[in-house]
Amino acid sequence: MSKDLISKVVRQVPPSGIRKFFDLIMSMEEVISLGVGEPDFATPWPIREEAIYSLEKGVTNYTSNLGLFELREEVARYLHSRWNLTYNPGDEILITVGVSEALDLALRALIDPGDEIIIPEPCYVSYRPCVLFAGGVPAMIKTSQANEFVVTAEEIEKRLNSKTKAILLSYPNNPTGATIGWGELEKIKDIIEDREILVISDEIYAELTYEGKHVPFASLAGMRDRTILLNGFSKAYAMTGWRIGYAAGSREVIAAMTKIHQYTMLCAPILAQMAAIEAMRSGESAMQEMVEEYNRRRRLIVKGLNEIGLDCFTPKGAFYAFPSVKKTGLSEEEFTERLLLEEKVAVVPGIAFGESGRGYIRCSYANSLENIEEALLRMDRFVRSL
Ligand code: PLP
Repeated sequence: MSKDLISKVVRQVPPSGIRKFFDLIMSMEEVISLGVGEPDFATPWPIREEAIYSLEKGVTNYTSNLGLFELREEVARYLHSRWNLTYNPGDEILITVGVSEALDLALRALIDPGDEIIIPEPCYVSYRPCVLFAGGVPAMIKTSQANEFVVTAEEIEKRLNSKTKAILLSYPNNPTGATIGWGELEKIKDIIEDREILVISDEIYAELTYEGKHVPFASLAGMRDRTILLNGFSKAYAMTGWRIGYAAGSREVIAAMTKIHQYTMLCAPILAQMAAIEAMRSGESAMQEMVEEYNRRRRLIVKGLNEIGLDCFTPKGAFYAFPSVKKTGLSEEEFTERLLLEEKVAVVPGIAFGESGRGYIRCSYANSLENIEEALLRMDRFVRSL
């Protein structure tokens, strides 16, 4: 088949750098992987049990396009009790196939050809491609370790123009673990307040905040209807494989997203929705235990990396450390490849997350303390061998 039959946009977007790397890891034995961005825990048992029970009862049908009303009610209750946000479960919450689908819907609902979406980087690998697939133009803003990988309101202001449709914020951040405090968010609010711009706020790691307090963008005065809040169950409840998330926003924006969702996805899988209801009802304590465990691992890995001489900013959330490998004289790609081949430790080159990831590697600490300790020993040996 001629390649010309494939859309130009799709041809131009390179495949994810992370995937290529994982294929290599899969072909090797005894690798300690600090590569994957997913919890090493299984979904807590009561959540799994609820799904099994639902299946036994024959709960196998489609749901409403918006998702089960019971789940939307639980999400509304959670957003209110946890973050003091008020959404109507009737028409302001949409249940999606993970934050991944919610993000795609938000972008497609907003973007006309050529519209710009501002994205601070380094960032989650999907943001840029999804903007391109939706016909938009990603306007990337580099952040740096010197500024704790936090984008400033001034930098955002410089990138605004008549084509800007939205700013895509994601804190706590993948891959840096950075968060944005209330003060900087207020400044961002001040610059968008009088402009016709939305914020798409991917808060999938909100519950995994170890230092300071997570501030949802929608909680700032007047910002609820200017924000499309995305969140899900993958990270906080160890439910990546269930593919379940949600978007909350104004009635208008949720209606627009639902229009695309109803024609392309119809609804999120019902068993995952049943499991998510259980997660909201009884998952809190299991989630807190996982968060405490991540926090222990975070302290261990950050200390260990700094002792090895890989200068590592202290991540405040998510489950990633993002140390610099600049002092080793290797590029992040050389470092990653040699570490894998020579010491069988898998990490991800920072460049996979954008230009400002050059010189850095992402180490996921969603792995056991023993494995992290062993990985640190191997990394130390590797760095000393250089
Ligand atoms: N957003 C961020 C920042 C992520 O890191 C990820 C997964 O790694 C996702 C979204 C995808 O989440 P989901 O599993 O809900 O589709």
